[in-house]
Amino acid sequence: MDAVKYSVVVPIYNEEETFAELTKRLREVMDQLDGPAEAVLVDDGSTDSSYRLMVEARAEDARFKIVQLSRNFGHQLAITAGMDLASGQAVIVMDADLQDPPHVILDLAAKWQEGYEVVYAVRQHRDGETHFKKLSAAAFYTVLRRLADIDAPIDVGDFRLVDRKALDAFLSMREHNRYVRGMFSWVGFRQAGVPYSRDSRHAGESKYTLRKMIRLAVNGIIGFSAAPLKLAMSAGFLLAVASVLYGIVAIALKLAGVHLVPGYTSLLVAVTFLSGVQLTVMGMVGQYVARVYDEARGRPLYLIREARGFGGKDAAATNGHATGNGITAHAGTDAPLVPTR
Ligand code: UDP
Ligand code: MG
Repeated sequence: MDAVKYSVVVPIYNEEETFAELTKRLREVMDQLDGPAEAVLVDDGSTDSSYRLMVEARAEDARFKIVQLSRNFGHQLAITAGMDLASGQAVIVMDADLQDPPHVILDLAAKWQEGYEVVYAVRQHRDGETHFKKLSAAAFYTVLRRLADIDAPIDVGDFRLVDRKALDAFLSMREHNRYVRGMFSWVGFRQAGVPYSRDSRHAGESKYTLRKMIRLAVNGIIGFSAAPLKLAMSAGFLLAVASVLYGIVAIALKLAGVHLVPGYTSLLVAVTFLSGVQLTVMGMVGQYVARVYDEARGRPLYLIREARGFGGKDAAATNGHATGNGITAHAGTDAPLVPTR
């Protein structure tokens, strides 16, 4: 078989309702691309029949290569697993719910042929997303752009095509709490955007819970900025200055013979306010410490329960266990997926 030119990585978490349409449209696009293509479908611990459907899709069309993670690791790690396993010269990441229309891949590929190494899809308008989602996204990106050390393009999600060069750079970054779109801004290379209109979800409901959204937002800010720490420091400093001033005023009043009312209320306010600030600041520092701890433990980013289509033969149960931070595929051998690092 010819070397794969395009890999389409699709994270799948309980997407049985969209699956048939997804594979149909993926096949159409793979047919239209100007070289051999594969689709790497990553089951992120689905509890519905998604994985069974993936196995069936692979039986029908061997261009579908499938991986099942051992549990739900979240969107960002699922796409990382897919990119680890993809073998194409250009790798595209796309959602399973068809909010990212597959035919846009052709536009991304055209831009890649012009020599760009990271081609991201820019949302022109968003159909069928809640006001809350749009508002919270707008607020988040404003904050991120102000704070972060990266220049993340606006209205860009994880729908993008990356050239092997940029992908290898990305894959060398094994950080745990990932904000993939930020990491792709960080790697540099020649980047370009392609506009597209984001459809509404084909079927089913969003798999991004509020919790997952908040986690992603925190990873974006903390992963690319020390601004919260600086903020904590300035807040602490300002409060310290304020309390010294307050002390001076209190002494001056005392010396001037002004009778001070027993300050129960002001004391209580000061104590509760200050402990609130202290806890907030500690929590903020704790966020960074927790991330240092995550990295120090050096656990694998994800674990694979089963992968088919990546070796000489289908691996029945290949684990990204050992000390690896994820795994790499060795195509053309009978060896199971080999842990890296
Ligand atoms: N997804 C995943 N793991 C998760 C949550 C989501 O792999 O824990 C996948 C999901 O199946 C979809 C993509 O990530 O392919 C984007 O999720 P979704 O469409 O629910 O997010 P939204 O578009 O609402 O932000
Ligand atoms: Mg979606």
